[in-house]
Amino acid sequence: MTIAPQAVIERRRLLVGGVVQGVGFRPFVHALAGRERLAGFVRNDGDGVVIEAEGAPESLDRFMHALVDEAPALARVDAVGVSRLAPEHARGFAIAASDGRGGAALVPPDVATCDACLSELHDPHDRRHRYPFITCTHCGPRFTIVRRVPYDRRNTTMAAFPLCADCRREYEDPADRRFHAEAIACPACGPRLSIPLAEAVGQLRDGAVLAVKGIGGWHLACDAADEEAVTRLRARKDREDKPFAVMAAEPADLAEVDPAADALLRSPARPIVLLRRRAAAHVAPAVAPGTPWLGVMLPYTPLHHLLLADVERPLVMTSGNRSDEPIVVGDSEARERLARIADAFLGHDRPIHRRCEDSVLRAPRTGGFPIRRSRGFAPSGLALPIGAPRAVVAVGAELKSTFCVARGAEAYLSPHLGDLDSEPAYRAFRADLELYLAMLGVRAEIVAHDLHPDYLSTRWALERDAECIGVQHHHAHAAACLAEHGRRGPALAVVLDGTGFGTDGTLWGGEVLRCDLTGFERLAHLEPVPLPGGDAAIRHPWRTAAAYLERAGRPVPWERWRLVRQSLGVNAPLSSGAGRLLDAVAALLGLREAISYEGQAAIELEHVAGGAPAAPYSCRMSRGVIAGADLVRAAHDDLDAGRPRREIAAAVHEGLAAAFAAACAWAGGPRTVVLSGGCLQNVRLARSLRRRLDAEGFTVLTHGSVPPNDGGISYGQAAVAAAAIDARKE
Ligand SMILES: [Zn+2]
Ligand SMILES: [Zn+2]
Repeated sequence: MTIAPQAVIERRRLLVGGVVQGVGFRPFVHALAGRERLAGFVRNDGDGVVIEAEGAPESLDRFMHALVDEAPALARVDAVGVSRLAPEHARGFAIAASDGRGGAALVPPDVATCDACLSELHDPHDRRHRYPFITCTHCGPRFTIVRRVPYDRRNTTMAAFPLCADCRREYEDPADRRFHAEAIACPACGPRLSIPLAEAVGQLRDGAVLAVKGIGGWHLACDAADEEAVTRLRARKDREDKPFAVMAAEPADLAEVDPAADALLRSPARPIVLLRRRAAAHVAPAVAPGTPWLGVMLPYTPLHHLLLADVERPLVMTSGNRSDEPIVVGDSEARERLARIADAFLGHDRPIHRRCEDSVLRAPRTGGFPIRRSRGFAPSGLALPIGAPRAVVAVGAELKSTFCVARGAEAYLSPHLGDLDSEPAYRAFRADLELYLAMLGVRAEIVAHDLHPDYLSTRWALERDAECIGVQHHHAHAAACLAEHGRRGPALAVVLDGTGFGTDGTLWGGEVLRCDLTGFERLAHLEPVPLPGGDAAIRHPWRTAAAYLERAGRPVPWERWRLVRQSLGVNAPLSSGAGRLLDAVAALLGLREAISYEGQAAIELEHVAGGAPAAPYSCRMSRGVIAGADLVRAAHDDLDAGRPRREIAAAVHEGLAAAFAAACAWAGGPRTVVLSGGCLQNVRLARSLRRRLDAEGFTVLTHGSVPPNDGGISYGQAAVAAAAIDARKE
């Protein structure tokens, strides 16, 4: 390319911010510059992508528009800063080396294997035929292999694999689809499996439990149709009933897949989607006992594709850990911690730098919200209605723990970390948080936390030499829902949850708040009942049922209650949790007296209610106190009268929804209601509540991007803290 010296030319420096690294952005810029005959360079830096482009002003204008309009599918351009420079009369356009600074640049999430790579994977003439680590500019691991920004190969765990001549040629050729694909590899130069694939396939076909190294951690896999294998996996993993996810090449064989669910299953994040299981599905009963839902996902790495194609059957794919410990990431760690669970190990030598478990979403027709926002979503930014003038680190709650970093107008929610209730979990939490802060170049100077004094996340916050901002649990839930809709409030909030620490020292969880991002007022709530034995009551819902029956003036059917009651003394904290009320009804109906995972009793109650029509049980309210015991009394009396359980379960769901809709109408004020809290994962309850609030003329907002459960708490804390800091400026 030649530019005549007398022609009018300009040189512009563009700073492009957003998700622009690891998504094929530089090759895209290179191609655009060629089209517009511009000279200059593009490079990654700590804050995004820097372009210096030189040429005719109209070409530069077209180039700048195309940067936004034609950006690669996985990219997100948030801002383009422009400055004028003196022309250098340069020639050619180059992809220059990164400047090596760490900084704000966003690392993209991990992306499922693309169709172009898949067809090469299955092409016997391709040099990557059946290569389990095939990737390109548009797919493969990102977040989980990045050690530091900018996202360049030398800053990833792929730095340990020097490129062969063929790979280098592709990497450096602007016309190649692997031009600057940072995770590029091939059988000659890239990572390798630890055992022959055929051996792993044989193990699975024989009913063994196989540990498989994935993108953000290890999985435990077995034949999903083999009841014996699944039961063995449950026993060894010490996981009694909590459902397992299934990876299948043809999910429609197992569950009802409508077009919207299919699109979600096939999206680049490839989440686990909760679908209604087909009656005839060839899936062992032990995979998901007591629930009509089945968590299904498609293969998302080349290794998964090869495994499923060769095993020729759906596989249970569950996190590689024992019970509720953190997921295993390292190779030697896997061999040690999974030694008594797995019969064989299918590993490889590409290190995982960050753990990141699979995401779980409800199917679109049942709400489409995340239950776990993790792989494929983290660390992409979520907007904040009020930006954080200074960076905020929000550390979340305890169960389904996440943390979140707010900076400027965006919040970066961490992957799902699991329950933060043990020393190993706390260690993993701290390690992950350090890595995350380093990636973002943020220091924990302002820390938002839950009010519960015993949460390990609260302990971490209070031990910092930092300004701490305590955020009430249910205010954080409400703020998360407001914030994801770009709202500041004021609004009403219905938060139906298990238990969270209230400002009066009792455990809240069935609340109507009037709130905005900076504060809240508690307008209505379930009448508190004692939880006999505290945490023991959460594990043994029959105890809560006994407390509710006493409140309702009905006999307690359990003989052991008298003993338990005598031994309790003062250990019976008051709780207004909606989850506890549903637990109590489940126990009363004889569904479940003890649980083995959080929310189990309530989930089974929802299952029993199904779609059975029922008029709501009525529930009195006096000065904002909702008499939940009325629902228990009605359920008790109907049970005595021989009414079918499904009708009773349905009438309790409807009664709870009706009581909270009535409380909102009584509360007055804002005409917008946000719905949040773990109980709103209950499809029947959420639908009924929404229908009733709609009928009252409210605008109802529900979660779509962050979980309604405690996995969304840290984002809500971040939104509250950002607004609080911002408010000080005035
Ligand atoms: Zn690809
Ligand atoms: Zn190679």
